[in-house]
Amino acid sequence: MFSFLTEQTSDAGFRNRFHRRSLEHQRPLSTVTMAFTVVAFIAFASARSLAAGSAVPLAWRLACAAGLALLVVAIPRAKSTWIFGSIGVAYTLVLLAGIALTVAGLDEPLLWALPAIVVIPVCAAPLWLTPAHFGIGTALFYAAGTPFLLGLPHPRGDADAVCWMWVLIAVPTAAVFHFGFYGFRRHHFLLEERLARLAATDPLTGLQNRRAFLEQAALRLSKLGRGSKTSAIFLDIDYFKSLNDQFGHGVGDQALADVARVLKDVTSSGDIVSRIGGEEFALLHDAGLRAAAQLAETLREAIGRIARPDGQLSASFGVAEYRPGESVMALLDRADEALLRAKYSGRNRVCAERATFVDSVRPTWDDQRADDAPLHPLRQQWDDFWLTSHFQPLYSLSHQKQVGFEALLRGEREDGEQVPPAVLFSPKPFTDQGELDRVSHALHVRNARRLITDGAWVFLNILPATFVAEGYPDQLATIARAAGLEPERVVLELLESHGGSVDELSRAASEYRNHGFLIAVDDFGAGHSNLDRLLRIRPDLVKLDGELIRAKSAGADQPILPKLVSLLHQAGMLVVVEGVETTEQLILAVESNVDFAQGYLLGRPSASVTPPDAVHRRIDHAFDVIAQGRAHQHAMFESEVGPYRQALDAGVDAWLKGMPLNDAFYDLAQLELCISCFVLDDTGRQIGHEVPGKASAIDGASLHPVANPRDARWDHRPYFRNAVLRPGVPITSSPYLSLASGRPCIAVTVALQSGEGRCVVGAELDWSLQRLPWPTAEHW
Ligand code: GH3
Ligand code: MG
Ligand code: MG
Repeated sequence: MFSFLTEQTSDAGFRNRFHRRSLEHQRPLSTVTMAFTVVAFIAFASARSLAAGSAVPLAWRLACAAGLALLVVAIPRAKSTWIFGSIGVAYTLVLLAGIALTVAGLDEPLLWALPAIVVIPVCAAPLWLTPAHFGIGTALFYAAGTPFLLGLPHPRGDADAVCWMWVLIAVPTAAVFHFGFYGFRRHHFLLEERLARLAATDPLTGLQNRRAFLEQAALRLSKLGRGSKTSAIFLDIDYFKSLNDQFGHGVGDQALADVARVLKDVTSSGDIVSRIGGEEFALLHDAGLRAAAQLAETLREAIGRIARPDGQLSASFGVAEYRPGESVMALLDRADEALLRAKYSGRNRVCAERATFVDSVRPTWDDQRADDAPLHPLRQQWDDFWLTSHFQPLYSLSHQKQVGFEALLRGEREDGEQVPPAVLFSPKPFTDQGELDRVSHALHVRNARRLITDGAWVFLNILPATFVAEGYPDQLATIARAAGLEPERVVLELLESHGGSVDELSRAASEYRNHGFLIAVDDFGAGHSNLDRLLRIRPDLVKLDGELIRAKSAGADQPILPKLVSLLHQAGMLVVVEGVETTEQLILAVESNVDFAQGYLLGRPSASVTPPDAVHRRIDHAFDVIAQGRAHQHAMFESEVGPYRQALDAGVDAWLKGMPLNDAFYDLAQLELCISCFVLDDTGRQIGHEVPGKASAIDGASLHPVANPRDARWDHRPYFRNAVLRPGVPITSSPYLSLASGRPCIAVTVALQSGEGRCVVGAELDWSLQRLPWPTAEHW
């Protein structure tokens, strides 16, 4: 049961730790006990004053009491066990001197002194911290106490016998007390250490667990000197779940142990290493970002050599450098954010946190080439190739002219061969991820200044991590102005990749705006885009992902672009559509009221800025097609709904003359697209029953909980409101999704005055069939 008591305790630090811990345990007890003896001594000295015989002056005895009190006060301040022990030794000796002074001159001093000098070493015994203290303290006490005892007048001269009796009774009792208490404290300490170790250790890997890591890291950060650096490395094993799933948890556990072994082997003793979660590990390494990223890279390579049954293990790493004053959690969050980027960009790599302060880009322009060819773009050296800018035009559809150019990064080798994008944008562990981004901005603004002369906007792509980097808004404004381009001419296209919280992005957006930059959100409708992000960043422009131009709403072969554009316009954002490649897409863009368009049909990216060519005629043609199409569409729509309006008119007449609802609307209900005929009262609630139409049998989406129209009121629907605005006139609604059928529908309705008051009579028509004409945008 007490097997832990026998465990190895011989290490050098153990005794030290144990004695220090004993000191902490003992301090309050010693303070109280010794304070109590001061009181006892004062009582003893006072009692002596009542007894006869010449006494040593009271002031001496009080001086002893004051000395004892000072030693008591020193106890809470004792920093080391030796000071603590020395206080104990001094205390027993002063106490002994006090007793000697007190009993001097009494008739039977031995009677007064003997109980005290027996009790003192026995009571002090458990309070000595270590056997050494006990030995020294006891030896000194007896060395001083024996002559004192022998010097006292003994009633029958048997001084030796009294002395022997004193030593033989007090010493063994004190030894039993001291070693008994010492053993007890030691057992308690061992248990405490073992529990602390268990609570701090991950049993599988033997590394520190999360709680211990956070505690130790917080301590380390709090003690970090000025100018010292430390960094957190966060790593997560890649595809670990598949290892468990395919080969069992035993194999997963072994992999965790292997990774832990690598971490222990590769790191140094000063590093804090921990398994912080399932297959996640964290390290604190006393170095700056770059050195920590290098350590992470070494670890990555070492982990890459661990075998798993289907190949090799790999892990992704995020590294962040400590910023003075921040908490461990804040540091880990930044490392975690970098880790996520490592995961997103393909795993098995090291990503450093996004730049906190952005180093100025030091351009190495290919100036000679620039001088030779003033209208040729500048180039910037990068690895073993050159970066250069290509520009793709954006057109305003209404103005039918170029209004901006998106700058796109290209790489080329010395011989003019193009560098594939995969090479150009492959993440590099040792450079911070935003460096290429920032270099590209400096390059693009200079090239834009040289090539784009007519005041058009320049669209720069920017990674969210760069966008939110501290100090970058100022730096980019300086770079743009230095290149001769006012920020008002620059539109920052925020890419749809991971990095930066929405709060950070919206805060950064307002900083860029203060400089005059315009903000666009790129690729809306793909990746991480969501409406909340958009509404909080509030960009000036939204670039719609090219896929949206091809997207149709489910159930009806209708493009969703017009609705989306109208929504964005209502939110005060201009809309750019990308990826316009065919005339149909251009027509759809014009029809959807898109403001600007970009795509191969309008102009490809190019190293030189070409004049608009015949593009404006293409756009003009699209406008013509739409104007014709709109008229045609309108006529088709009208002819399609005409018979339903007439049947509704006839039905209403019959119903008003008193014919039952079923009979009155029989003809209308028998028309092919009629789902149902209904009558709504003044508040939009259904009167009487619904007359099922021919199309009601067609299967719709399963919307059973909301399928019964009798439960609801419908006066908010445009078909109700528009009918009420023009009583007596049959109204055709825009398409909407019917809750009753789950299908796209339109409604024909008419408001009228019946015997029961004002009501709206109508029919819901199934508009989900593909051949049906769809009203143009203004019907919506
Ligand atoms: P990714 O590359 O994105 O990191 O994918 P992943 O599969 O490594 O990550 P995911 O978070 O999906 O899976 C982690 C798995 O780790 C899930 C959990 O079952 C497993 N796991 C957590 N703790 C232990 C453990 O102590 N032993 C074993 N064998 N598996 C564990
Ligand atoms: Mg994980
Ligand atoms: Mg993982």
